[in-house]
Amino acid sequence: MDCLEAQRLMKPYLDKKLTDRELAQFIDHIEHCRDCREELEINMAVDTVMNDKDDARDAYNFTRKVDERLASSRRFLRVSRTERLARRCSIVIAEIIFILTILTSVELREFQDHTFTTLYRFIHWYEPATETETETETETEAQTDESEEMVSEG
Ligand SMILES: [Zn+2]
Repeated sequence: MDCLEAQRLMKPYLDKKLTDRELAQFIDHIEHCRDCREELEINMAVDTVMNDKDDARDAYNFTRKVDERLASSRRFLRVSRTERLARRCSIVIAEIIFILTILTSVELREFQDHTFTTLYRFIHWYEPATETETETETETEAQTDESEEMVSEG
């Protein structure tokens, strides 16, 4: 980002209207460019006097205010990245649930017995099997192969 771009984004920055990407680039520039940082201090001073009346006693300590503001922007970017990661995880979980639902309905139609479904086996994996150990193992393996096939098809 160059100085012209940084100065164009100053007002949107103070109004908290930058995208995450713009905000990250803006902060990087401000932290490395003395001119733009001073410009931002002036802009923030005006903004503070205009909008932040409760904080009027602090209104002349703009250097500290800019530091605080930049630090809070950094925190904001960290949190929103974490949130985005959490959102992506929940989409993956939703997809797994969706696939399991389809798989279970197909299996139910095919076997007419819910104890044969992958979901049932997954939920009851810890329960002692009534059949002999070897038989259960072979069956589970076959079942797993089948489910993998279905997932890749879908
Ligand atoms: Zn600059």
